[in-house]
Amino acid sequence: MVKNKKEYVLRIVKILERNFEQTKYPINFSNNFELLVAVILSAQCRDEMVNSVTENLFKRYKKIEDYANANIFEFENYIRSAGFFRNKAKNIIRSAQLIMNSYNGVLPQTMEELIKLPGVARKTANIVLSVAFNKSEGIAVDTHVIRIANLLKLTKCKNPIKIEEDLIKVIPKKYWANFSFYIQSLGKRICKARNLNHSVCPLNAICPTGRHHV
Ligand code: SF4
Repeated sequence: MVKNKKEYVLRIVKILERNFEQTKYPINFSNNFELLVAVILSAQCRDEMVNSVTENLFKRYKKIEDYANANIFEFENYIRSAGFFRNKAKNIIRSAQLIMNSYNGVLPQTMEELIKLPGVARKTANIVLSVAFNKSEGIAVDTHVIRIANLLKLTKCKNPIKIEEDLIKVIPKKYWANFSFYIQSLGKRICKARNLNHSVCPLNAICPTGRHHV
């Protein structure tokens, strides 16, 4: 059973790879801390809006010290359009302060350390580890992965931690980072929350949800 599931997942990964390999990472950043900031801002916020917010933010705040010393009210104004701006501002500034105080101003490179930063859970840490450091300690589970992993029957859970455990069991480690990225790309373009475009989906021949609707 597990073997079959592994073969099924591998087919999914290969198909997604063919379709989304050339897709550019949608969020703009020019260093690892900016990536962390952008990923924190991306919670419940579209990529285009994140990029529009960070365009000015990254001009005003250049180094981690600038974030650590930021005036929270001024900072909030810069990120207001990203939503949940009070929490996000607090988390970003406190993360910068913790990095300055505990990690000599250098963004840590392990899951264990990253999830100690305010506002950073496993999803954000997994993205930062894979995109910034090319490391895979897990699989980033965001809303697209939660939804589509269920549609593909790779899990029966809605809890991101449990979904990550289910996926790790069947996806070879070398695909962990790309799997999330491909599924996010699929979720944004084709398998959308309010509009599952089964007929144009590259997975429709094998997806247990889609194949009955083509
Ligand atoms: S076939 Fe349909 S449900 Fe399955 S992944 Fe594609 S769009 Fe989503």
